[in-house]
Amino acid sequence: MATILDGKKVARDIESEIGEEVTGFVAKGLRPPHLVAVLVGEDGASKTYVSGKMKACEVVGYKSSLIKFDDNISENELLSVVDRLNTDEGVDGYIVQLPLPDHISVEKITDRIDPIKDVDGFTPANYGKIDMEHHSLLPATPMGIIELLERYKIETKGKHCVVVGKSHIVGMPMGILLAGPGDATVTICHIHTKNLAEHTQKADILVVAVGKPGLISGDMVKEGVVVVDVGTTRVPDASKKKGFALKGDVDFATVEPKASYITPVPGGVGPMTIASLIINTMIAYKKAMCL
Ligand code: NAP
Repeated sequence: MATILDGKKVARDIESEIGEEVTGFVAKGLRPPHLVAVLVGEDGASKTYVSGKMKACEVVGYKSSLIKFDDNISENELLSVVDRLNTDEGVDGYIVQLPLPDHISVEKITDRIDPIKDVDGFTPANYGKIDMEHHSLLPATPMGIIELLERYKIETKGKHCVVVGKSHIVGMPMGILLAGPGDATVTICHIHTKNLAEHTQKADILVVAVGKPGLISGDMVKEGVVVVDVGTTRVPDASKKKGFALKGDVDFATVEPKASYITPVPGGVGPMTIASLIINTMIAYKKAMCL
């Protein structure tokens, strides 16, 4: 039976460590760190993610602000919001929750965010420094996964890590972090990969970030594999109060018996992504306050 990589518990531990730091700073008369979330439109999943982030701020004692816009906000208007946040000295970090409506270029918005306040770690400047010793703010989800592996003392050095998915926010930066600072041998798979199973079967550590429930089944992994399931897809489920269940990319029932460690969905990577945001905001705050 696999050990569950309990992201929820680890995130709580991180929150309590950061909460203590915040208490210390506030006791010295300093203002608390301030995280702002910008939310455009009415996407249900985005609202849930943002509310989880705001809740975590409250737990650790950060100030948090939510700026909401209808999905008809223009690209220029949103760019001027970004400009304002960049220059607001009372804001340490902010996120623009994705996805954005089709008429707004994610690239343009991301490019405009001041890297110092980019607590999601999406800007080109922060992305470009991922494998450098003096990196600043790492992409939140891959950073959370590395933290989770470290807290369970799972070594990546010399391991064969297979990452399925090559998005800008998860798969690619994950591969760079594992191959760079993680000293692993990395294979990155994607939609054009021929015979996916041939690759996943070789993984000592398998990270799946696709968004296709059940993509990875038990016959696609080897005995003892460490499995990190990033996928979070809402599938209709009449037995749930909300009418849907969250499903990962990994078929837990057939993969778990062969794995040594595995993340659950929900309760694995999701809470670690929020924990990374909290850590990144503390990094940005310390820089801003010269601490
Ligand atoms: P994305 O931008 O849609 O990227 C998906 C990646 O999967 C792409 O690189 C795509 O390949 C690849 N892919 C698609 N179908 C495939 C297949 N059949 N076999 C192999 N690769 C395939 O998604 P994302 O933003 O990375 O998110 C992925 C999943 O993680 C989603 O379910 C999302 O909700 C979840 N997520 C969770 C968290 C969290 O905190 N828990 C954070 C971020 C994302 P191509 O590039 O070649 O098209």
